[in-house]
Amino acid sequence: METTVHNMVIVGAGQAGLSTAAIAKEAGIEPVLIEAGDAPVGSWPHYYDSLRLFSPRELSTLPGRTMEGAPTGYPGKEEIIEHFRETAEGLGVEIRTGTRVVGATVDDDLVYHLEVEGGETVSTRTVVAATGSFGNPHRPDLPGLDGFTGSVVHSAEYRSPSPYEGQRVLVVGAGNTGVQLAVELRDKAEVSLVRRKPVVLVDPMATGRDFHYELFDGFGDLPFEWLGAMPGAEETGEVSMVVDIGGYRELFERGEIDVRDPFLRLEGDSVVWGEEDRERADAVILATGYRPAVGYLEGLGVLDEKGNPRHRNGLSLKRPGIAFVGFDLNISLYSNSVHGAVRDAEAVMPALSAYISRAFEKGFTGFTSRPF
Ligand SMILES: Cc1cc2nc3c(=O)[nH]c(=O)nc-3n(C[C@H](O)[C@H](O)[C@H](O)COP(=O)(O)OP(=O)(O)OC[C@H]3O[C@@H](n4cnc5c(N)ncnc54)[C@H](O)[C@@H]3O)c2cc1C
Repeated sequence: METTVHNMVIVGAGQAGLSTAAIAKEAGIEPVLIEAGDAPVGSWPHYYDSLRLFSPRELSTLPGRTMEGAPTGYPGKEEIIEHFRETAEGLGVEIRTGTRVVGATVDDDLVYHLEVEGGETVSTRTVVAATGSFGNPHRPDLPGLDGFTGSVVHSAEYRSPSPYEGQRVLVVGAGNTGVQLAVELRDKAEVSLVRRKPVVLVDPMATGRDFHYELFDGFGDLPFEWLGAMPGAEETGEVSMVVDIGGYRELFERGEIDVRDPFLRLEGDSVVWGEEDRERADAVILATGYRPAVGYLEGLGVLDEKGNPRHRNGLSLKRPGIAFVGFDLNISLYSNSVHGAVRDAEAVMPALSAYISRAFEKGFTGFTSRPF
């Protein structure tokens, strides 16, 4: 039986994968989407219960779609899930849910073979990795963490404050998630926010409109490093930028959020802040971020030594026909947002399209020759 070779397989059907599918169709490519979960809605069902997006509705829509409600208002998690589900239905592309890609190889004809859990192989000329990062939570090797007798969860597993009622809780990591969780937990538990870098609160309405509009209008194309040179970052070099979506500044200024430097170690049921300063702790929540969930591409040599994609503007530097969409800081400062994922997809599509229709269909041979 002859193997079907698809023109494009998109791995992951969240905002990145769905955007890529829509943009691919506009470019005349029929992609196949492969999704490990049971619905094409990305990781949103797994995020914590109280989550409201901090990107406004009209900047959280997928290509060619709108969302009901005030365009500048902020959608809830369920609204986003429904929006993705409807978008997926309207796309008219093959979406294989409940299918996890676990490995990849390439043959001499430059056809990629994606190995799927259960043994099947899906063959394709191009692969777009749109698998986000939620599947790869970063768990730092904190001193004493292994021997700590309290509970330890990553924020990926956190759902609501109720299990922490009356407990002494350490939220480790002070990015957007860490601050949100510390704020949410403070009424129920005795919380400390443990941070390595100073927290700089960003006012999302500083210019009179939500900062996502500024990102989209050009600010998002600044190199990330430039942010480190902005006011507030100068004294320390490195800061943690947190979007103040709910009166955080007042809480910090009133001292309602207990902010701490890193502890020396955890020890049994205690946290050791200094040799003379230790106390009991019940729980550690690791709000320490994520890394791209792209391990299934390892066999192609397209990742660096830390397992991150090696690419320029989303296109693999190692293998033709491989692209990355929607990962944090992938192409712009807002790649890891709904609108940013659309933008990423638009950025990689001309090359993928040319690769399929020009290089592949017209044949590689004759274009180049080996050096004499
Ligand atoms: C708590 C939280 C709050 C956020 N709030 C906002 C916000 O307000 N506004 C905003 O714009 N962004 C927000 N983000 C950032 C970003 O929009 C989301 O993380 C978003 O889910 C990323 O979309 P994605 O499509 O890249 O990845 P995901 O949503 O993670 O989708 C990737 C998909 O790939 C699938 N997959 C993974 N591995 C495989 C595999 N090997 N084979 C097959 N399928 C696979 C997964 O099942 C998943 O469905 C938030 C993120 C977090 C964690």
